[in-house]
Amino acid sequence: MHCRWQSTDSPRYVYASTWSERHAAYACGLGTFGLCDGLITPLGKAVRVGSVVARLEVPPTPRPYSDHRAYCLFFAQGTCGECIARCPAGAISEAGHDKVKCRDHLNRTRAFVGEHYGFDGYGCGLCQTGVPCESGVPG
Ligand code: SF4
Ligand code: SF4
Repeated sequence: MHCRWQSTDSPRYVYASTWSERHAAYACGLGTFGLCDGLITPLGKAVRVGSVVARLEVPPTPRPYSDHRAYCLFFAQGTCGECIARCPAGAISEAGHDKVKCRDHLNRTRAFVGEHYGFDGYGCGLCQTGVPCESGVPG
């Protein structure tokens, strides 16, 4: 099957993609975004989400929030911000998530992953662990 997913530069969002699993999950009522841009779900932020697009009618799942940042303590209560200190790249601040700093850090992990695990990959996600929203909706 032809893959139409692509990432592209965006004047407004630095770069963006033609499909986002997190945004699909948000639209489906599964969670809201945090200060670090991760999706906070009832199972927390340290999750993977996926989507299946089908041409069929099903009753919509209620969306239990009206604000796209409702589950993040920083936006909802002006507290927390613990993901800021978790980031080794200084990519998170009270201004939000710096995608360029985050991507630069992810790219630096490629050599480590290749050397230690023997495949072409990268990773981080430290901002999704050791924080109040790791395993559930905080507060
Ligand atoms: S760690 Fe705190 S500030 Fe960061 S996304 Fe989670 S709730 Fe929001
Ligand atoms: S994935 Fe890593 S580098 Fe990117 S914002 Fe989270 S902690 Fe920082």
